[in-house]
Amino acid sequence: MMNFNKSKALFEEAKKYIPGGVNSPVRAFPSVSLDPPFISKGKGSKIYDVDGNEYIDYVGSWGPLILGHAHEEVVAALKKVIDVGTSYGAPTEIETELAKLVCEIVPSVELIRMVNSGTEATMSALRLARGYTGRKRIVKFEGNYHGHSDSLLIKAGSGALTFSVPNSPGVPEDIAKNTITASYNDIDGLKKIFEIHGEEIAGVIIEPVAGNMGVVPATQEFMDFLRKITKDYGALLIIDEVMTGFRVALHCAQSIYNVDPDITTFGKIIGGGLPVGAYGGKREIMKKISPIGPVYQAGTLSGNPLAMTAGFVNLNILKNNPEIYEDLERKSKLLEDGFKENAKKLGVKVSFNRVGSMLSMFFTDKQVVDFKTAMTSELNKFNIYFEEMLKQGIYLAPSHFEASFVSAAHSQEDIEKTIEANYDALKKLV
Ligand code: PMP
Repeated sequence: MMNFNKSKALFEEAKKYIPGGVNSPVRAFPSVSLDPPFISKGKGSKIYDVDGNEYIDYVGSWGPLILGHAHEEVVAALKKVIDVGTSYGAPTEIETELAKLVCEIVPSVELIRMVNSGTEATMSALRLARGYTGRKRIVKFEGNYHGHSDSLLIKAGSGALTFSVPNSPGVPEDIAKNTITASYNDIDGLKKIFEIHGEEIAGVIIEPVAGNMGVVPATQEFMDFLRKITKDYGALLIIDEVMTGFRVALHCAQSIYNVDPDITTFGKIIGGGLPVGAYGGKREIMKKISPIGPVYQAGTLSGNPLAMTAGFVNLNILKNNPEIYEDLERKSKLLEDGFKENAKKLGVKVSFNRVGSMLSMFFTDKQVVDFKTAMTSELNKFNIYFEEMLKQGIYLAPSHFEASFVSAAHSQEDIEKTIEANYDALKKLV
């Protein structure tokens, strides 16, 4: 039996000073009856809590750690930077190196601006789209999550969905009214929105493979239509690759769909586990950004040398070792096949979605293609499953509306152990 005594005590202490004891809501394990373990360290595919419990980690800091925890090359590079200074608020060479690397890997990105989180990236991308087009309205998709800026916290996924506050109090009606929500993968729905509001729409933002209502990929037809209709109406297409960027493929989800967005937003992997976000795109559009253009956006710690270094080393390793993606695909497919076989053997109804190393198991017999079908997943079943997995040392995201991530550090043994644990956990549902 695992013991969580120290974590419990730390959680109680944290709650005295931090709202809910956490600095991001889902970390509080909102819908499950367990308190969250407090993590003390990580190495490779594993994390360890303060009570000495070991877990095979499929959260990977919610996506950034595609190479696993405390990767030696990343850590060594960071140590070198720390020794000479951590922030200057002045230009440094590493900022150009990371920018250049992203522009090389992602052809639609000709100029890129670094910020500190995915939220900042999408918020700034919207301002740019509005500034560039001179229009007010934005279209987003139901169940997609793009961070917590006012314009985007409308029918949002991720924690907002887990906590049932997809429309947060505190977002003024005057702002919310400019965000139109459309149904994901629904061509007719999008067409109608453009027929009514097309001339007022500055941009459409989409998760190309949604990961914040569980994993739900856009269909190719939908993506093609989205590109076409935005072009026809002079609206910008913003592809939010905060989660999918350098995750589902080296050249990001846009390479899988062969779609050429106007603006792309990044986060997570681009920072290698340090706080980074970025937005980039066509030169003509990005030239509107301050100081060369009138659209203002700035940041005290933007382009921070530690964050740029972690991101640069991370991306370089991915670029120079394309076999990492084949290995991720192989291991993720093993998990998918193993989980499906277990569910079949036990007669538990599940629906599985996976794109590369992003995967989700929904507790429903419906195929999950949008928000509505994602909502058919049974929460009580997920909760039992999640707790059983955790007790067996498998650390998953504490909500069925989140993705699991396989990393390069997961071993064959980790995968096999996870499939065995999945069998035992699913058995509790029979
Ligand atoms: N966009 C997407 C697609 C995301 O998944 C997230 C976070 N999970 C964000 C934006 C916001 O990023 P951050 O949490 O770094 O602000």
